[in-house]
Amino acid sequence: GDRTIDAAGHRVVHGGERFTAPARVTNEVIRAIERLAPLAPLHNPAAAQGLRAMAERWPDMPQVVVFDTSFHQTMPREAWQYALPDEVYTEHGIRRYGFHGTSHDLVTGLAAEHLGIPRGEFRAVVLHLGNGASATAIRDGVSVDTSMGYTPLAGLVMGTRSGDLDPSVVTHLMRNHGYDAEELDTLMNRRSGLLGLAGEADMRQVLENAASGDGRARNALDVASYRLAKYVGGYHVAVGGAQAIVFTAGIGENSAPFRARVLDRLEALGVAYEAEANRARVAGPHTISAPESAIPVLVVPTDEEQAIARLTWELAR
Ligand code: AMP
Repeated sequence: GDRTIDAAGHRVVHGGERFTAPARVTNEVIRAIERLAPLAPLHNPAAAQGLRAMAERWPDMPQVVVFDTSFHQTMPREAWQYALPDEVYTEHGIRRYGFHGTSHDLVTGLAAEHLGIPRGEFRAVVLHLGNGASATAIRDGVSVDTSMGYTPLAGLVMGTRSGDLDPSVVTHLMRNHGYDAEELDTLMNRRSGLLGLAGEADMRQVLENAASGDGRARNALDVASYRLAKYVGGYHVAVGGAQAIVFTAGIGENSAPFRARVLDRLEALGVAYEAEANRARVAGPHTISAPESAIPVLVVPTDEEQAIARLTWELAR
């Protein structure tokens, strides 16, 4: 056909500290993405290859890169620094970066709009619950803390990732049970989370098994919802009192039973929701909390592809 592509937008996992926003692609930008390879060895080199290949094939087509990390570059140092000797950060770049930024950013804007609060004044806890899951604390419309860390392994219980863990578990397993780095990586990233606890990574299946009396599935839901509720409580403090709790992504948007399990644990924050509103299937951003809830609870569909397309259009035109 005679249709041409106006621009290409790429999702890139790691922008390190260099990229605080999406960027127009230049050779220098591609080199910078490659230099960040130590932070994302599986993803950044592949992204750079893709960018180069497209630049060679379509030299005049604008390309834009959108980073999973950049939205979280507004975190204050107290939130991103690990309490390790400072040189571990200065020499090796070990710090909290955070991920899912494109989604957290989009959903924050949509939630503020839905509530009629100026984005720059918006305080919220945003819960992106998909196969990977992360919570973000939003203050003045920007990220001030997030549950993923140096890598996407930290924080919440996910489909196959453990989330938070005492790091000594790792050294113990290496010393006493013969695990090497590769095996530990697989254990924590691919065999843990819902899969490790319940034998199923898919939330639908876990809920179904729990409903038919499977004790492992029930336990997995307890561990996951308890962990999540603790993060909401912590981030409520971090943002100075949230004006909204926002659910998004596969589980956050679609799983009323899992949302209910989390919200039931937030009574101490004055959160109240309506079972019917929680169960109702509504397209677009909507409120599921009861009118008397101290904090409104919203479901806001995310759309990372559309967000990347919009950002690309803005930078490419
Ligand atoms: P995502 O990574 O955002 O595509 O989300 C994937 C996760 O969403 C999987 O754990 C799915 O089981 C879950 N999910 C999708 N639809 C539903 C649903 N209707 N009920 C419960 N979980 C769902």
